[in-house]
Amino acid sequence: MSGGARADLAGTFRRLIRETGPISLAQYMGESNAHYYTSRDPLGDAGDFITAPEVSQVFGELIGLWLADIWVRAGRPGPVHYVELGPGRGTLASDALRTAGRYGLIPQVHFVEGSDALRQIQRGTIRGVTHHADVTTLPEDGPLLIIANEFFDALPVRQLLRAAEGWRERMVGLEGDRLVFVYGDRPMDAAVPQSWRHASQGTVIETSPAAAAVMSELADRLVAQGGAALMIDYGSRESRAGSTLQAIKGHQKVDVFSAPGKMDLTAHVDFEVLSHVAQRQGANLLGVQMQGEWLSALGIDMRMEALKRRAPDQAEKLARQHARLVAEDQMGLLFKVMGLSGKGWPAEAPGF
Ligand code: SAH
Repeated sequence: MSGGARADLAGTFRRLIRETGPISLAQYMGESNAHYYTSRDPLGDAGDFITAPEVSQVFGELIGLWLADIWVRAGRPGPVHYVELGPGRGTLASDALRTAGRYGLIPQVHFVEGSDALRQIQRGTIRGVTHHADVTTLPEDGPLLIIANEFFDALPVRQLLRAAEGWRERMVGLEGDRLVFVYGDRPMDAAVPQSWRHASQGTVIETSPAAAAVMSELADRLVAQGGAALMIDYGSRESRAGSTLQAIKGHQKVDVFSAPGKMDLTAHVDFEVLSHVAQRQGANLLGVQMQGEWLSALGIDMRMEALKRRAPDQAEKLARQHARLVAEDQMGLLFKVMGLSGKGWPAEAPGF
């Protein structure tokens, strides 16, 4: 966004809307999140939300084990690159790489990260990491082992509403000084997937062109260079109607217009769409599994028991962390793990 005081993004949005009319939800979400992430470390108790790698080291360790397994079965090709999208504090990478190293997997490390504040923290966690602004500059000289945890949910979505006269885009406009949802006047029927075209009036669907574009590029790379990918996020295995846009600040849900640039805006990930995109590009879909089941299949129970034996005084805390990651009423069901592999790589893998 040009001009405008960065400190007051809401004011900048208001001026922009007054001058040029309603803006798309994707623009609102994209600029709000870019400002949000680059200005702070949002993770942890003192921040706005907690993610699986920040709950327990076991999460990253099991991912490292999974990567080492598929790399060994692919014949230990080198050079090989570990690529993480939106790595936060670098905690997952650090746990995964420590574990993978025990099996001889010592990849070069590449982070796709938009936030200056987080890049700084990541340099402290992972020595020698190479940062990328997006996926287009990732290396081309070897297979990619790609991880994304809670990355795709932060990418901008657009919402389409079935109004009386046809499909319209939900946009962000003004009512007095308040940001509100308004409806665009352009017909959007052509942007609606075939299966939703005839949905009843009032139906809202959400799509993320940005997520589909990233997925498409990653799948292309897996097919051209080999490798494997795990995308972990909240969302559903089948496309569903309805808005899942939400804003989180200080571990609470808040109104999506309450504090642009100062809260985390996310939407559920549509794994049906992402799997189709990846397969269309020729990648192998290993599967889309519930996080709880995936971690259990990878041996989380045994690993947690081992940690408890080593630190019996921590047993209660470890049990809480374990439950947080796998229990159905916590992260176990809502979060999904999607696995992909590239040409010439194993088409089956643990957990799926
Ligand atoms: N994976 C980490 C952090 C999740 S928060 C964890 O599980 O703890 C989302 C991460 O994605 C942050 O690192 C954020 O800066 C990054 N991010 C969000 N949108 C991005 C974008 N468009 N481009 C690059 N990085 C982005």
